[in-house]
Amino acid sequence: MVNKHEEDIFVESNSSSMLRRVCQICDALVQPGNGDFAYAPYYHFCYECTNKYPPALRKALIDSFFYAACIQGLGIVEFETVHINGDWITFIPHNREMGFENLPYPFPRSLDVPLANILWIADAPNGS
Ligand SMILES: [Zn+2]
Repeated sequence: MVNKHEEDIFVESNSSSMLRRVCQICDALVQPGNGDFAYAPYYHFCYECTNKYPPALRKALIDSFFYAACIQGLGIVEFETVHINGDWITFIPHNREMGFENLPYPFPRSLDVPLANILWIADAPNGS
């Protein structure tokens, strides 16, 4: 997956150059200082996406690692990364042949879940 930071745009403004970045979720232009720097200083999220999506979910989008989420009606999903499409989250398993463990189906390709059905989500649930 190509990260959107490669689409960074330098904007000349009043003889000083100002770096703007694109929100990793919605493509809105985000100025430094107006986005979310909590996890990855080289990536930005707009205010709307920072408020809508929890920190661990935003990190999972840009930093493949070990994550876990509890999905209402399904149970705990351990995953590597996500895709975000508005109110739908696509979870990607670590092993794309075996799929997820301990679920009714392995879902080896991916699993789509409504954002509202995520009860909790964590980065490195077993520590790092
Ligand atoms: Zn956004």
